[in-house]
Amino acid sequence: MPLARTWSVALSGVDGVPVEIEADIGSGLPKVRLVGLPDPSLTESKERLRAAVRNSGEAWPSQHVTLGLSPATLPKNGSGYDLALACAVLAAAGVVPEGAWEFTVLVGELALDGRVRPVRGVLPGLLAARRHGLRRAVVPASTLPEAALVDGMEILGACTLADVLAWARGEQGRLALPEEPAPAAPPPRPDLADVVGQPEARWALEVAAAGGHHLLLLGPPGTGKTMLAHRLTGLLPELTPAEALEVTAIHSVAGQLDTDAPLVSSPPFVAPHHSTSVAALVGGGGGLAKPGAVSRAHRGVLFLDEACEFGPRRLEALRTALEEGEVRLARRDGVVRYPARCQLVLATNPCPCAPARDSDCVCPPNIRRRYLSRLSGPLLDRVDLRVHMRPLTAMSAVGVEPENTAAVRDRVSRARQAAAERWSDHGWRTNAEVPGPALRREFALPRKVTAVLDRGLSLGTITGRGADRSLRVAWTLADLAGADRPDADHVAAALEFRERRAA
Ligand SMILES: [Zn+2]
Repeated sequence: MPLARTWSVALSGVDGVPVEIEADIGSGLPKVRLVGLPDPSLTESKERLRAAVRNSGEAWPSQHVTLGLSPATLPKNGSGYDLALACAVLAAAGVVPEGAWEFTVLVGELALDGRVRPVRGVLPGLLAARRHGLRRAVVPASTLPEAALVDGMEILGACTLADVLAWARGEQGRLALPEEPAPAAPPPRPDLADVVGQPEARWALEVAAAGGHHLLLLGPPGTGKTMLAHRLTGLLPELTPAEALEVTAIHSVAGQLDTDAPLVSSPPFVAPHHSTSVAALVGGGGGLAKPGAVSRAHRGVLFLDEACEFGPRRLEALRTALEEGEVRLARRDGVVRYPARCQLVLATNPCPCAPARDSDCVCPPNIRRRYLSRLSGPLLDRVDLRVHMRPLTAMSAVGVEPENTAAVRDRVSRARQAAAERWSDHGWRTNAEVPGPALRREFALPRKVTAVLDRGLSLGTITGRGADRSLRVAWTLADLAGADRPDADHVAAALEFRERRAA
């Protein structure tokens, strides 16, 4: 059997593509040749393969070995093909029976001693293999819980190459089966009941959750900006099974899954530091580009604390990603795409000296103005809700017990339901997604309802985009109130969210 075939899988962003691997053993000098656009890290794998095979107690063929990977046009970077390459060689050498790996995708990096090491992107890889008609997967044992998220495939976990070979020779017990997942309790999420006072900011958070709006929290340190931001995901609906797989696939490619409980079923919360690199923020890096914070926050919340400190390059990169709903990374061998639909929460102090109360500020007025202008206009243009938080006083802490997350989430989910039903024919799910022209024409409100906006537009105190943002928020306020459509009060209240500025 001088020729043998196995299957592995390549990743392009979060899309997997099955890769057919052929090994041919022929006469000639004992040498290994790789054909089919091998990336440098794949060339290194030649040495790894030889060592791993030897250290698994097998002989490496003493003839000329040609390894082909197809489709040849596809970027094949990384080390995830090691296992499939080694198995193809050994099948061609007649060490294991022909056909042992029929309809089987093999994924894993090999250590020199023959251990099978985990790789990134097992979930999207297996989803692609299943689409391609492959029925069985052999994966690194530590990624079994992740692989088991793929229904309808036989999943086997390998610790060593020797185990995989023994299994192919009929020792069924050498590969591990996934364990029945214990019903995982959702991780505890911070509750709104812990937030005292700040009624305006709490309301803004509820409106942001209901309409999917981006939010800016402006205020001195110690007013609870971070605390509030952390509580937004708790107000959002759980991910649907399809969304959960989509988000888990991104986290898998990022190499950031919880090995034991890999499924990401709640909206993620991602809070990058302002010194983080642009690549870490929007994605990048060598080899298989990693998704950045904005993609890991897909279908969840991206929180930028001290947003003014992020600087124009990072903020501009973020704006582009949010505008397009995805990140496109140019690579040597093509473009990698990662989804990036998340809700943005920006928090900032009103000025660089950041006093506990505004009256203690020592910054000259021009410095104060310049500080906030660091938040780029185009990015701020996409932020529908802006709230100025004030220091907590003894008085504001007295009185009613703060509402908890469950109570607020009920109202939010009713409002989201109403919005989703209204826009369902158009493919939008939240009010924040509705384009301005649709709000102004197809879903135009009566003149007397929008009078306050029209006046602002003619006086030049509101821009066209600002008016669109207010309309979106007005629809959310109507949804929260259980109204069919916004009235003049909703529009006026929505405008408040725009006009409130740092004094
Ligand atoms: Zn100041």
